[in-house]
Amino acid sequence: MNLSPREYARNNRRWRGSVPISSFERLAQELTTDCESVDVQLAFSLDENGHIRMQGQAVVAANVACHRCAEFVATTICADIDARIVRTEERARDLVPEADVIVVTDNPVDVSELIEDDLIMSIPWRVCENQKACENLVHDAQAAGSPETTQKPFANLRELLKR
Ligand SMILES: [Zn+2]
Repeated sequence: MNLSPREYARNNRRWRGSVPISSFERLAQELTTDCESVDVQLAFSLDENGHIRMQGQAVVAANVACHRCAEFVATTICADIDARIVRTEERARDLVPEADVIVVTDNPVDVSELIEDDLIMSIPWRVCENQKACENLVHDAQAAGSPETTQKPFANLRELLKR
């Protein structure tokens, strides 16, 4: 799964394929999946300043832990990728701040290294809202609708102030 980004960019080449989930050490810690691979399509080019630009998408069906109720929920992680690839941190600083920059020292580099950060950042935060009602969300709604529970913290505070 290795490729040379500069060579691909010079030739405006595309890379399309499946990358085994086992190649993503950090991503694998964040989710469980029955899927064995991430579907990837990438297009490489050189931008107006001669920097390597990588655009594309990485998609994987996975079970992601909901940060509200900690349940695993089946969802699809879809990373839209548009990044510049540079060889050193110094070069990364030269680039416009709004551009996504990936520092890659290896050449050729494993495709998983190019897309892992984007995939991790694309993990949905509150998966329950998309798939099914989050149990904690239901509890929150009930608490908000009940005057007794919402007033309790202030009552306790008054008790504390009296002492
Ligand atoms: Zn939830």
